[in-house]
Amino acid sequence: MEISHILVPTDFSPFSDLALEHAASLAEKFGAKITILHVLTLAEVNALTSQPGNPWENIVLKIQNNMREEFEKNAGNYSIVEEPVLEVAVGEPAEEIAKFAEENGVNLIVMGTHGRTGLASIFLGSVTIGVIKKTCLPIMVVKCAESLK
Ligand code: ATP
Ligand code: MN
Repeated sequence: MEISHILVPTDFSPFSDLALEHAASLAEKFGAKITILHVLTLAEVNALTSQPGNPWENIVLKIQNNMREEFEKNAGNYSIVEEPVLEVAVGEPAEEIAKFAEENGVNLIVMGTHGRTGLASIFLGSVTIGVIKKTCLPIMVVKCAESLK
């Protein structure tokens, strides 16, 4: 198995914090590059762009800043070959994550078992289930909370 391009889909939850740390640790070992991807639904985009003085470019810049911060905070102490690439996509999250991975030569996806909802009674979050269904690429699923055991 080659690990040269790792995709970390983030929803800025503690689970994606942990996914970033694992991804950076692997990227350091394998000399891989990392892409971080956040997907906004069309409804989220419409709500955000309908606010006055909030053009799309600003929204993307803000999300990229959040990604940079999340990466620095959780994975900043790993030495990786290049700065992570920061991507924002619009659509159905699982579909966009799988599509991005397949179209961009990703060979490992690292993501959380859960995300912002984080319900312990649910085995896996719907985005993770969707990605597993939609791609044949290897996926590393990480879990952070004791409370989810
Ligand atoms: P649900 O959304 O089904 O109520 P949840 O929020 O607990 O449950 P998921 O949304 O499936 O669980 O989150 C699992 C993982 O999927 C997260 O840790 C993150 O890696 C990724 N993820 C979730 N939402 C997005 C998103 N909008 N963009 C990119 N990655 C996401
Ligand atoms: Mn979610």
